[in-house]
Amino acid sequence: RDLPGDPDAGPGIRQVHGAAYSRVEPTPVAAPRLLAHSPEMAHRLGFSDADVASEEFARVFGGNALLPGMEPFAANYGGHQFGQWAGQLGDGRAITLGEMINADGERWELQLKGAGLTPYSRSADGRAVLRSSIREFLCSEAMHHLGVPTTRALSLVGTGEWVERDMFYDGHPEMEPGAVVCRVAPSFIRFGNFELPASRNDTELLRQLADFCVRRDFPHLRGRGQTLYADWFAEVCERTAVMVAHWIRVGFVHGVMNTDNMSVLGLTIDYGPYGWIDNFDPGWTPNTTDRHHRRYRFGQQPQVAYWNLGRLAGSLSLLFDEVSPLQEGLRRFVDAYTQADRDNTARKLGLDECREDDTVLMQGLQDLMVEGEVDMTLFFRGLADVDTRVPDLTPLRSAFYDEARREAIEPALREWLARYDARLAQQDLPYAVRRARMNEANPRYVLRNYLAQEAIDRAVAGDIGGVAELLEVMRRPYEDQPGREMYAQRRPDWARERAGCSMLSCSS
Ligand code: AMP
Ligand code: MG
Ligand code: MG
Repeated sequence: RDLPGDPDAGPGIRQVHGAAYSRVEPTPVAAPRLLAHSPEMAHRLGFSDADVASEEFARVFGGNALLPGMEPFAANYGGHQFGQWAGQLGDGRAITLGEMINADGERWELQLKGAGLTPYSRSADGRAVLRSSIREFLCSEAMHHLGVPTTRALSLVGTGEWVERDMFYDGHPEMEPGAVVCRVAPSFIRFGNFELPASRNDTELLRQLADFCVRRDFPHLRGRGQTLYADWFAEVCERTAVMVAHWIRVGFVHGVMNTDNMSVLGLTIDYGPYGWIDNFDPGWTPNTTDRHHRRYRFGQQPQVAYWNLGRLAGSLSLLFDEVSPLQEGLRRFVDAYTQADRDNTARKLGLDECREDDTVLMQGLQDLMVEGEVDMTLFFRGLADVDTRVPDLTPLRSAFYDEARREAIEPALREWLARYDARLAQQDLPYAVRRARMNEANPRYVLRNYLAQEAIDRAVAGDIGGVAELLEVMRRPYEDQPGREMYAQRRPDWARERAGCSMLSCSS
């Protein structure tokens, strides 16, 4: 490693200055058992089926053994949490085992989450519960298959230990089974990795980190000379914009977009109290910790990403003589987001291009979706099947949560469909082609909160089968999968206000 590490060893809780990471080993668990794995990710990393099935695999990815060459560490970073500077945070329960280069020459960092105490654990226990580990494992892979930039998940290992958590947020903790997820990404560097040295005026460490990150994670920028850092920041802005636009396209709410949870590679990272939009509502957040301010609500995510990039720009300004290149980068975010959002409009509505009026058309539809309490996923998927010339609303029927509200918006929806039909008439796209394109942008299956919760309930009762089934469905989210209709339904009424299904808290 060519970055300065913490000279102190061991997991003692401390402030770590002048170092980007601390060497610390995972704390072994009682009885590591592989509960699930991602076949794609295992093969990509060069693990055979026999490797995955071995006891050694569960030991390594549960934190009980190291493979030759692994030099585990926890990263040091800070962050803005809910808009406030929070100081040093760091990997409090995540431990990177090391990096590997696969047969295709790709470099992957392997990181255990829930692997035990580190110098950054503060008052917490360094562990993760099965419930939140299943959520991270499934959602990482689901997002990947949806085409959303994300960290990946290799494995889910049960620890055979119990962890104390206050699942119902009532001050009465319960014991829950523990688990460790091995997550995988080219890099886990966050905005907060740069914010911390900048907050301490440690320009030397900040520059070392920036150089390391550019060299390792942005090798295509080599040779840029004077504009290197500016080009790098602009690319971070652009990637962040693309990522958030994908979230909006598929109905994903991150839930806790603190700057320590923002990847410089523009990957979705840190799956905690995230959620999926059922009834379309830009004001919705699954995070109970955020239920009053709703800072991280669905429709606010682009603005929050921009604000977060502003914090990163502020930190990086120590490396710049003037701020205009950073302002230019932030403008790149706005341009890239606007472009990506327009692409979404075109793709979701099956238009050959997004014209000025089309954004108005989309806005009109979204207003109706809110008013009519419409399931986002079912509606967009159904829209491709609507005969707009009639219009026949049958394919949209199952998307409504409330009959009275459906009836209330039906006249306006018919008017909207007439406008849509007129717009479609202006392009020369055969219906079958349009439908196929729409179905590539509008998934049939998303990881609805209640579906994940049902798999979790089964897993906690000892049956991991629900996790395997959900993973299987989410591998092909844009394909109609006969016999799997139950994974493409409206959220049932029982799930509306249930913990885990629509309400989650920050760190579990
Ligand atoms: P999060 O809100 O999950 O991004 O976590 C914020 C900070 O709290 C990070 O520094 C985490 O590493 C730390 N943290 C969260 N949960 C735990 C835990 N159970 N043990 C130790 N640190 C934790
Ligand atoms: Mg409780
Ligand atoms: Mg985090």
